[in-house]
Amino acid sequence: MKTIIEPFKIKSVEPIRFTTKEERKIILQKAGYNPFLIKADDVIIDLLTDSGTSAMSANQWAGIMQGDESYAGSNSFYRFEAAVRKITGMKFIIPTHQGRAAEKILFSVKGGAGKYIPSNTHFDTTRANIEFTGAEAVDLLNEIGKIPEVRANFKGNMDVDQLESFIREKGAENIPLCMITITNNSGGGQPVSMKNIREVKAVCSKYSIPLYIDACRFAENAYFIKLREPGYENKPILEIAQEMFSYADGVTMSAKKDALVNIGGFLAMNDEETAMKSRNLLIVTEGFPTYGGLAGRDLEAIAIGLEEILEEPYLHYRIRSVEYLGEKLLKAGVPIIEPPGGHAIYIDAKRFLPDVPPDQYPGQSIVCSLFLEGGIRSVEIGSVMFGRYDENGKFIPPDMELVRLAIPRRVYTQSHIDYVSEVVIESFKNRHALKGYKIVYEAPMLRHFTVKFEPID
Ligand SMILES: *Cc1c(COP(=O)(O)O)cnc(C)c1O
Repeated sequence: MKTIIEPFKIKSVEPIRFTTKEERKIILQKAGYNPFLIKADDVIIDLLTDSGTSAMSANQWAGIMQGDESYAGSNSFYRFEAAVRKITGMKFIIPTHQGRAAEKILFSVKGGAGKYIPSNTHFDTTRANIEFTGAEAVDLLNEIGKIPEVRANFKGNMDVDQLESFIREKGAENIPLCMITITNNSGGGQPVSMKNIREVKAVCSKYSIPLYIDACRFAENAYFIKLREPGYENKPILEIAQEMFSYADGVTMSAKKDALVNIGGFLAMNDEETAMKSRNLLIVTEGFPTYGGLAGRDLEAIAIGLEEILEEPYLHYRIRSVEYLGEKLLKAGVPIIEPPGGHAIYIDAKRFLPDVPPDQYPGQSIVCSLFLEGGIRSVEIGSVMFGRYDENGKFIPPDMELVRLAIPRRVYTQSHIDYVSEVVIESFKNRHALKGYKIVYEAPMLRHFTVKFEPID
């Protein structure tokens, strides 16, 4: 087997500014030990997110020049609409400035007090948008998806039996829609099988509940289905994607992931009444229905990105490069979610730092260490992001304490990834010196973006 190379050449480069460990110590302290508050210029390798960080292709940049900036009925909208429809088959396609804008509109229409929205795992903005309307966001992930060290093909699957008992318990009339996130970002970027999507749809249909797909990483999910699910090994990615969406009644998507662009998203559905209500809200908050908070050029770039993402050499390189990082870490004994997901490696902070309890944020401690050791920016997905307090103010940690190393699309080369593995392994070797953190400031919602910490002595 020869090395799987990046299926692109580099035409335009962005310099990386190097810092010393001493400098990074000060940078980190000034940022309240929160990587979201560090200046990008102070970061050597930025693995904070794969969202909106993709390198666009020469073709997409050319598309930017072709963007039609007409207020209404722009050519670029029709290209965008055709690209989304080709993949999802949805009747009504509504552009939004990003994924959470689609969520905000969808749940303003469908949510509300007394309602429940089940999912395999809701992403943080999805959960926040549901809860903001007074509805309850419920995660019904398959048991195996909650065990980081167990290898399985489709750890993003929803628990279908639990879904059915949940519907019976709460009443179908209180469940305006069911969601499934592909791949399951918050649960480790793990894929969902076609079989599971089909079964979830069957349960939803039985109770006349629409199924919405959170499609941020649909192409990565489709590629995993091709690799791992019998019967799909010879199918083109487009066909697999089309089958996935054939079971859905609606879609939300952040184009900042698998549409290979820096901004954008959409909401799509087959139900006309929901579409009408959504478009009315769109006009108030985002813009006219043929641009929805985006420039014509953005719509053009999304349309092209949605074609490029389905190319198999790209997906092969993409999934393999994440797996390559995973293999290096595992070989050195670093505990990660297995098998590696599509867009990121998730370090299991509970096993990495067993002596730091959840209320001292073991994930945050690793995040700080990776920045100090090598200028790598990562993000905690654990008690900082999803920890809650009960009525008595008692801290309730989530199931998992993770650190995500998200890999931007088409941005870093193999030597960058080698460097990342060296820094993580170095931190792992020094793990006994890592301390817990305490929160000194937090916002009432989505606190991880602005929270500030201090190290515990
Ligand atoms: C990124 C993401 C969102 C939200 O999209 P934004 O464009 O960041 O608003 C929703 N769901 C999932 C699974 C995501 O990864």
